[in-house]
Amino acid sequence: MSDGCHHAFIGMGSNLGDRRSFLEKASQEIGNHPQVRVIKLSSLYETEPVGYLDQGWFLNQVMEIETTLTPEELLSFLQGIEDKLGRKRLIRWGPRVIDLDILLYGELTIETPELVIPHPRMYERGFVMLPLQEIAPDLIHPDGKTTREHLAMLIKTEKMEKIRLFQD
Ligand code: ADP
Ligand code: MG
Repeated sequence: MSDGCHHAFIGMGSNLGDRRSFLEKASQEIGNHPQVRVIKLSSLYETEPVGYLDQGWFLNQVMEIETTLTPEELLSFLQGIEDKLGRKRLIRWGPRVIDLDILLYGELTIETPELVIPHPRMYERGFVMLPLQEIAPDLIHPDGKTTREHLAMLIKTEKMEKIRLFQD
Protein backbone atom coordinates (compact mmCIF):
# COMPACT_ATOMS: atom_id res chain seq x y z
CA MET A 1 0.00 0.00 0.00
CA SER A 2 1.73 3.15 -1.09
CA ASP A 3 -0.21 5.14 -3.72
CA GLY A 4 -3.27 6.87 -2.30
CA CYS A 5 -2.53 5.41 1.12
CA HIS A 6 -3.81 7.36 4.11
CA HIS A 7 -3.53 7.15 7.86
CA ALA A 8 -6.89 7.21 9.54
CA PHE A 9 -8.16 6.86 13.09
CA ILE A 10 -11.32 5.00 14.05
CA GLY A 11 -13.17 5.40 17.35
CA MET A 12 -14.93 2.28 18.59
CA GLY A 13 -17.49 1.93 21.39
CA SER A 14 -19.84 -0.70 22.79
CA ASN A 15 -22.15 -0.74 25.81
CA LEU A 16 -24.40 -3.76 25.28
CA GLY A 17 -23.76 -7.46 25.83
CA ASP A 18 -20.19 -8.74 25.71
CA ARG A 19 -18.67 -5.33 25.00
CA ARG A 20 -15.10 -6.55 24.77
CA SER A 21 -15.92 -9.27 22.28
CA PHE A 22 -17.82 -6.78 20.07
CA LEU A 23 -14.74 -4.54 20.00
CA GLU A 24 -12.50 -7.52 19.19
CA LYS A 25 -14.80 -8.67 16.40
CA ALA A 26 -14.94 -5.16 14.95
CA SER A 27 -11.10 -4.90 15.00
CA GLN A 28 -10.82 -8.25 13.25
CA GLU A 29 -13.32 -7.32 10.57
CA ILE A 30 -11.55 -4.02 9.95
CA GLY A 31 -8.16 -5.72 9.70
CA ASN A 32 -9.51 -8.34 7.28
CA HIS A 33 -10.23 -5.80 4.56
CA PRO A 34 -7.60 -6.16 1.82
CA GLN A 35 -7.26 -2.37 1.57
CA VAL A 36 -6.82 -1.80 5.30
CA ARG A 37 -3.83 -2.38 7.54
CA VAL A 38 -4.15 -1.99 11.31
CA ILE A 39 -1.20 0.00 12.68
CA LYS A 40 -2.06 0.52 16.37
CA LEU A 41 -4.79 -0.24 18.88
CA SER A 42 -5.17 1.66 22.15
CA SER A 43 -5.95 0.08 25.50
CA LEU A 44 -9.59 -0.33 26.44
CA TYR A 45 -11.21 2.52 28.39
CA GLU A 46 -14.42 2.37 30.35
CA THR A 47 -16.63 5.45 30.14
CA GLU A 48 -19.77 6.81 31.73
CA PRO A 49 -22.49 7.31 29.08
CA VAL A 50 -23.17 10.81 27.73
CA GLY A 51 -26.46 12.17 26.35
CA TYR A 52 -28.86 9.36 27.10
CA LEU A 53 -27.87 8.43 30.67
CA ASP A 54 -30.10 5.42 31.39
CA GLN A 55 -27.69 2.87 29.95
CA GLY A 56 -24.55 0.92 30.88
CA TRP A 57 -20.96 2.17 30.84
CA PHE A 58 -19.21 2.10 27.48
CA LEU A 59 -16.05 0.30 26.54
CA ASN A 60 -14.04 2.47 24.14
CA GLN A 61 -10.95 2.01 22.04
CA VAL A 62 -9.19 3.90 19.23
CA MET A 63 -7.50 2.29 16.24
CA GLU A 64 -4.98 3.65 13.76
CA ILE A 65 -5.13 2.24 10.25
CA GLU A 66 -3.50 2.71 6.90
CA THR A 67 -5.92 2.46 4.00
CA THR A 68 -6.43 3.02 0.29
CA LEU A 69 -10.20 3.29 0.77
CA THR A 70 -11.67 6.76 0.27
CA PRO A 71 -13.38 8.31 3.35
CA GLU A 72 -16.81 7.48 1.87
CA GLU A 73 -15.77 3.87 1.17
CA LEU A 74 -14.37 3.57 4.68
CA LEU A 75 -17.63 4.88 6.19
CA SER A 76 -19.79 2.40 4.30
CA PHE A 77 -17.37 -0.44 5.15
CA LEU A 78 -17.65 0.47 8.88
CA GLN A 79 -21.44 0.74 8.67
CA GLY A 80 -21.52 -2.74 7.12
CA ILE A 81 -19.61 -4.06 10.15
CA GLU A 82 -22.01 -2.28 12.55
CA ASP A 83 -24.94 -3.94 10.77
CA LYS A 84 -23.26 -7.34 10.67
CA LEU A 85 -22.51 -7.25 14.41
CA GLY A 86 -26.17 -6.48 15.02
CA ARG A 87 -26.42 -2.78 15.69
CA LYS A 88 -29.97 -1.50 15.67
CA ARG A 89 -30.33 2.25 15.20
CA LEU A 90 -33.01 3.00 17.81
CA ILE A 91 -32.04 5.91 20.02
CA ARG A 92 -29.45 8.50 19.03
CA TRP A 93 -26.60 8.27 21.53
CA GLY A 94 -28.49 5.30 23.03
CA PRO A 95 -27.23 1.80 23.81
CA ARG A 96 -25.45 -0.01 20.99
CA VAL A 97 -23.45 -3.19 20.53
CA ILE A 98 -20.96 -1.33 18.38
CA ASP A 99 -20.34 2.21 17.19
CA LEU A 100 -17.59 2.84 14.64
CA ASP A 101 -16.70 6.45 13.88
CA ILE A 102 -14.11 7.88 11.53
CA LEU A 103 -12.23 10.35 13.72
CA LEU A 104 -9.52 11.54 11.35
CA TYR A 105 -8.47 10.77 7.80
CA GLY A 106 -5.00 12.17 7.09
CA GLU A 107 -5.18 15.94 7.37
CA LEU A 108 -8.42 16.01 5.43
CA THR A 109 -11.43 18.10 6.44
CA ILE A 110 -14.79 16.95 5.07
CA GLU A 111 -18.27 18.30 5.67
CA THR A 112 -21.10 16.56 3.81
CA PRO A 113 -24.52 15.49 5.17
CA GLU A 114 -23.27 11.90 5.56
CA LEU A 115 -19.73 12.47 6.69
CA VAL A 116 -17.96 15.03 8.83
CA ILE A 117 -14.20 14.68 9.44
CA PRO A 118 -12.64 15.38 11.92
CA HIS A 119 -15.54 13.75 13.77
CA PRO A 120 -17.60 16.72 15.00
CA ARG A 121 -17.70 15.72 18.68
CA MET A 122 -14.31 14.09 19.14
CA TYR A 123 -12.58 17.08 20.77
CA GLU A 124 -15.21 17.16 23.57
CA ARG A 125 -14.94 13.45 24.28
CA GLY A 126 -12.43 12.12 26.77
CA PHE A 127 -13.17 8.58 25.63
CA VAL A 128 -11.80 9.54 22.21
CA MET A 129 -9.01 11.92 23.17
CA LEU A 130 -7.48 9.82 25.98
CA PRO A 131 -7.02 6.64 23.89
CA LEU A 132 -5.91 8.78 20.95
CA GLN A 133 -3.28 10.43 23.12
CA GLU A 134 -2.07 6.95 24.13
CA ILE A 135 -1.35 5.91 20.52
CA ALA A 136 -0.75 9.25 18.76
CA PRO A 137 0.20 12.03 21.21
CA ASP A 138 2.16 14.10 18.69
CA LEU A 139 -0.21 13.69 15.76
CA ILE A 140 -0.97 17.01 14.06
CA HIS A 141 -4.70 17.56 13.52
CA PRO A 142 -6.18 19.51 10.57
CA ASP A 143 -6.29 22.67 12.74
CA GLY A 144 -2.51 22.45 13.29
CA LYS A 145 -2.75 21.41 16.97
CA THR A 146 -1.43 18.13 18.37
CA THR A 147 -3.49 15.50 20.21
CA ARG A 148 -1.73 16.54 23.43
CA GLU A 149 -2.79 20.17 22.97
CA HIS A 150 -6.38 19.17 22.24
CA LEU A 151 -6.56 16.93 25.32
CA ALA A 152 -5.06 19.68 27.51
CA MET A 153 -7.78 22.07 26.29
CA LEU A 154 -10.48 19.50 27.04
CA ILE A 155 -9.16 18.89 30.56
CA LYS A 156 -9.21 22.68 31.19
CA THR A 157 -12.95 22.83 30.48
CA GLU A 158 -13.46 20.31 33.34
CA LYS A 159 -16.32 18.83 31.35
CA MET A 160 -14.73 15.47 30.78
CA GLU A 161 -16.94 12.47 31.50
CA LYS A 162 -15.84 9.82 34.01
CA ILE A 163 -13.33 7.51 32.37
CA ARG A 164 -10.96 4.80 33.57
CA LEU A 165 -8.62 2.23 32.08
CA PHE A 166 -10.46 -1.05 31.73
CA GLN A 167 -8.98 -4.03 33.58
CA ASP A 168 -10.66 -7.38 33.48
P1 ADP B 1 -22.72 8.88 17.04
O1 ADP B 1 -21.59 8.13 16.42
O2 ADP B 1 -22.51 10.36 17.07
O3 ADP B 1 -23.14 8.33 18.35
P2 ADP B 1 -24.40 7.56 15.10
O4 ADP B 1 -23.32 6.52 15.00
O5 ADP B 1 -25.77 7.08 15.41
O6 ADP B 1 -24.01 8.69 16.10
O7 ADP B 1 -24.41 8.41 13.78
C1 ADP B 1 -24.41 7.80 12.58
C2 ADP B 1 -24.39 8.80 11.43
O8 ADP B 1 -23.33 9.73 11.57
C3 ADP B 1 -24.14 8.05 10.15
O9 ADP B 1 -25.34 7.95 9.46
C4 ADP B 1 -23.09 8.84 9.41
O10 ADP B 1 -23.53 9.22 8.13
C5 ADP B 1 -22.87 10.07 10.28
N1 ADP B 1 -21.47 10.52 10.35
C6 ADP B 1 -21.03 11.78 10.09
N2 ADP B 1 -19.70 11.89 10.24
C7 ADP B 1 -19.27 10.65 10.63
C8 ADP B 1 -17.97 10.14 10.93
N3 ADP B 1 -16.86 10.91 10.89
N4 ADP B 1 -17.89 8.82 11.28
C9 ADP B 1 -19.00 8.05 11.33
N5 ADP B 1 -20.25 8.48 11.05
C10 ADP B 1 -20.39 9.77 10.70
MG1 MG C 1 -21.30 6.57 15.02
